[in-house]
Amino acid sequence: MVRVYLALGGNLGDRHLSLETAIDRLQEHVVIDQQSGIYETAPMYVADQPAFLNMVVSGVTDLTPLALLDFLKRLESEIGRVPSVVNGPRQIDLDILFFGDTVLNSERLTLPHPRIAERAFVLVPLCDIAPDLIGPTEPLSISQLLAQVPGRDTVQPCV
Ligand code: AMP
Repeated sequence: MVRVYLALGGNLGDRHLSLETAIDRLQEHVVIDQQSGIYETAPMYVADQPAFLNMVVSGVTDLTPLALLDFLKRLESEIGRVPSVVNGPRQIDLDILFFGDTVLNSERLTLPHPRIAERAFVLVPLCDIAPDLIGPTEPLSISQLLAQVPGRDTVQPCV
């Protein structure tokens, strides 16, 4: 079993329901034992779209990295995501942040996720559950990365 950290986000439809459904369905293959808070986040990259809800979960899985990616893609389409522009609006987006200490650069999958350090909407929730985590490719912990990322104020706790 390998510990994985997964990012969940969405900005279309019933955003809370999409997160709940994703967490529910994820447990078919990931034993989830940690969940961050839920945050409302201003869109990054493509500004003219609704605000996102974002969160991070962690758990253990016996899937391989590519089997986990295939599973996440299947969940995204079953929960209702239709192909859209890159970084555009979506019902649900599921990303693998860390897969144990695996480092991978393949056509379909990059591990750790290559944009963790630039994304306040990932670092803020990740800091809820793993502030001291240091990934296999980066000397700084999650809380140290969060201290230097721009845009922390665009990520607000959702009550
Ligand atoms: P997305 O728009 O977030 O669904 O991502 C588009 C593509 O990024 C996916 O279809 C994956 O093949 C690829 N990808 C590369 N690395 C990752 C990762 N660590 N987690 C999720 N998707 C990834």
